[in-house]
Amino acid sequence: MSDLCFESNSVTKTVAVGGAVARALRAGDVVALSGELGAGKTQLVRGIATGFDADPRAVSSPTFVLMQEYEAQPTVVHIDAYRIDSLDDLESMGWDEPTQNSSVNVIEWADRIASELPEDRVAIDIEHLGDEKRQLRITLHGKLHTREKQLRTALLDHADIGLPCPICKTPVLHGDEAFPFCSPRCKTIDLGRWLGGDYKITREVDWENDDLATMERDTDGDS
Ligand SMILES: [Zn+2]
Repeated sequence: MSDLCFESNSVTKTVAVGGAVARALRAGDVVALSGELGAGKTQLVRGIATGFDADPRAVSSPTFVLMQEYEAQPTVVHIDAYRIDSLDDLESMGWDEPTQNSSVNVIEWADRIASELPEDRVAIDIEHLGDEKRQLRITLHGKLHTREKQLRTALLDHADIGLPCPICKTPVLHGDEAFPFCSPRCKTIDLGRWLGGDYKITREVDWENDDLATMERDTDGDS
C-alpha cells in the first residue's frame, strides 16, 4: 500500500490532479473516491475523464442516475454509491464484470461499499480545507502500488504537484517522510556531498547557531 498526500489550492489544480491520476490508470481499474459533499469529487472525476479524452461538459455528479458512462478511450464509468447498499445494486444497474473490465471505473461515496470493492484499487480521499483549498490523499491498494512512480511523475509533470529529489530526481511530495529527498538514502548521499566538500559555502557561517538546511548551495557545483 502506498500513500500520497498533498494539497490543491484551486479547482483548476484539482482538475489537473485528476488528469495526472488518469495517466496512471488503465481499463479495468477501480477508483474509490471519498470526501464530504462539496469537497470537489466531481472536479476530480472531470479531470480523470478528460484525461481519457472525454468531453469535460459531459461530466456531472451522477446523484440522480447513480451511474453514467462517458465516451472516452477507454470508457469512463462514473458511479454514485450514496444510495447503494451493496455491489448487487450496481450489477442491476449494469455495472457487470465485462463493463468493469473494459472501463476505468470511478466510484463516488465509495466508503459506503468499501468492503465489497476489489482489493486492487486506487482510493482518493478529498478533504475541504477552506475556499478552494483541498487536502488529497491517494492510496494505491494491492497490486496497484506498482503504479506509484508513474503516478508521482504524472503529478509532477502534469499538475505541478511535488518536487524532484535533489539527488535522483524522483518526484517527492511535501507529505513524504524524507522531504525534500525521496528516501533516507538520498538524504545521506546529500549529507555526504556536504561533508565531502562538493557543496561550497558561499558566506560565513555561524557554526554554533546556523542550521545546515538553511545554507546556500554553490550553484556552480555539479549537483
Ligand atoms: Zn532520491
